[in-house]
Amino acid sequence: MNDELQFCYCCRVHHPREQMRLYPTRAGYRWRCVKSIEAANSSRQERDAFGQQQSRQNQEASRRQADWSLLQRSGGIL
Ligand SMILES: [Zn+2]
Repeated sequence: MNDELQFCYCCRVHHPREQMRLYPTRAGYRWRCVKSIEAANSSRQERDAFGQQQSRQNQEASRRQADWSLLQRSGGIL
């Protein structure tokens, strides 16, 4: 019965063998479940997307700041 289960080094529990993949670590190949691998991948993608969003907002903020400075400088002339 235990033949169907494999210890997941990531979750520290046993999962059914069909959910397990051999995953390369610094210590060699370890059994890890697909869910934990996908969770790690998607959280990295979310972090990347968040970082891109942040830099866009920074660009937008500095552009608005530049417009405002221009408006103030040209305010007396126009
Ligand atoms: Zn797991």
